Amino acid sequence: MTKFSDLNLNPKVLKAIEEAGYETPTPIQAGAIPAALTGRDVLGIAQTGTGKTASFVLPMITALARGRARARMPRSLVLCPTRELAAQVAENFDTYTKHLKLTKALLIGGVSFKEQDKLIDKGVDVLIATPGRLLDHHERGKLILTDVKVMVVDEADRMLDMGFIPDIERIFGLTPFTRQTLFFSATMAPEIERITNTFLSNPERIEVARQATTSETIEQGVLMFKASRKDREGTEKRRILRALIDAEGDNCSNAIIFCNRKMDVDTVAKSLKKYGYDAAPIHGDLDQSQRTKTLDGFRAGDLRFLVASDVAARGLDVPAVSHVFNYDVPSHAEDYVHRIGRTGRAGRDGKAIMICTPRDEKNFEDVERLVQKTIPRLDNPLGDKATSRSEKPAADAAGQDTPKPDAATKTDKPKRTRSRSRKSDAPKEADAEKQPSKAREETPAPDAREPAQASAPAPQKAENTTARTGSSRGRGGSNRRSDNRDDRGGNKVVGLGDHTPAFIELSFEERET
Ligand code: AMP
Repeated sequence: MTKFSDLNLNPKVLKAIEEAGYETPTPIQAGAIPAALTGRDVLGIAQTGTGKTASFVLPMITALARGRARARMPRSLVLCPTRELAAQVAENFDTYTKHLKLTKALLIGGVSFKEQDKLIDKGVDVLIATPGRLLDHHERGKLILTDVKVMVVDEADRMLDMGFIPDIERIFGLTPFTRQTLFFSATMAPEIERITNTFLSNPERIEVARQATTSETIEQGVLMFKASRKDREGTEKRRILRALIDAEGDNCSNAIIFCNRKMDVDTVAKSLKKYGYDAAPIHGDLDQSQRTKTLDGFRAGDLRFLVASDVAARGLDVPAVSHVFNYDVPSHAEDYVHRIGRTGRAGRDGKAIMICTPRDEKNFEDVERLVQKTIPRLDNPLGDKATSRSEKPAADAAGQDTPKPDAATKTDKPKRTRSRSRKSDAPKEADAEKQPSKAREETPAPDAREPAQASAPAPQKAENTTARTGSSRGRGGSNRRSDNRDDRGGNKVVGLGDHTPAFIELSFEERET
């Protein structure tokens, strides 16, 4: 078995590794480090959790231990798709360079340019950045990339999902042709293959077995759920989620709850909080300081439920959790493996529970095909009450705090009869909206390259707008038509002139029968 001491790493780096408690290199480290140290390009096909960060940071800092950086001309560059991943790489860098005198700068959106400019001006050995913010600095003339000796592209498949590939190509073009490239991706989509063929030179290809199987220590279950009515799906699904959490009792010490869409991340977190659960959201549109605070709280055990989107959670080194709840079936089957891999770590038991609506069944089939097993079907913890219109919220039944009767509460407490005077609420609109494409599900963290995007969560706004537009045509639209009427303070139908067709005046109950 390879030992770290066999890898030709700088002795000060070896000391830091020992202090970090690592005994043996992981397969990606054993494969990538020697090749990178000889100056070769590396193509690492590996996922988070395989130790891939150290596989590029360790040889990089060993090479950088000699020489010094010049002002505005970093000697190496690490590109990451999200701010959290960039921050995590920076943390790794600090751990492994503790006995070396190397400098770094972290260029991510949501942080002032001034501080970042100061660091760049002094000269940095390693620049860790998200593509948008990096290009922004470059366009402002503050950064010159012609002295970059090593360039790392981390999580290239996520870069692709997030639409960053053109930025990556541009950045490649700004760095010298002679640079060494260390390129990591969990999958090799054709577009990724194209990039590697274009920008990597005879790379050493190291592939760590793709994790298509789920750990045996994770108990899995799925609840097949159909809402009583389309427009009640969100409300009822959130009620089911609470019941599933409650059913786990004290065994559920902490959990990550995954949603496919950012707007659902917000809605679910808000709803759980209203019902007295210790929950907070994390996704790309949230303010950086808020995201950091939430993650720190979760890591420290101060926060019990982290409601997350895939991109925000991907690659985050959070401690093992007792439970993972998939509020939605992921639209990419591999994400299921990533998501539930957060629990049942290091031989400990974990539990992964998923809710599957009829709309998710196709994705669910993909998940079962990938993991090559039948995920046990769970009984509905609410029995048929889950979809009963008169059922009180599970939180009441479980003796949880009863939420205050405000707008968000209304979302989760559907009334038996929906009258036209019922007020609208945003989460309701989200519930009835169609599944968006992957790209829209998770827009990149708002890098400051587009200032408007950084100051206001534009992608989120766009989603809301779409939801609203869709509401007049799509599923559940009838509900919102009545809401619109109420927003205008009366029963007048907007947009139909003076004539109101008779069917519009019928109540919902009458129309349904
Ligand atoms: P990564 O895949 O880079 O996100 O790493 C996942 C986790 O593995 C991190 O918490 C690292 O600190 C840890 N790690 C990396 N390399 C090793 C190693 N050789 N032995 C033990 N743990 C490691």
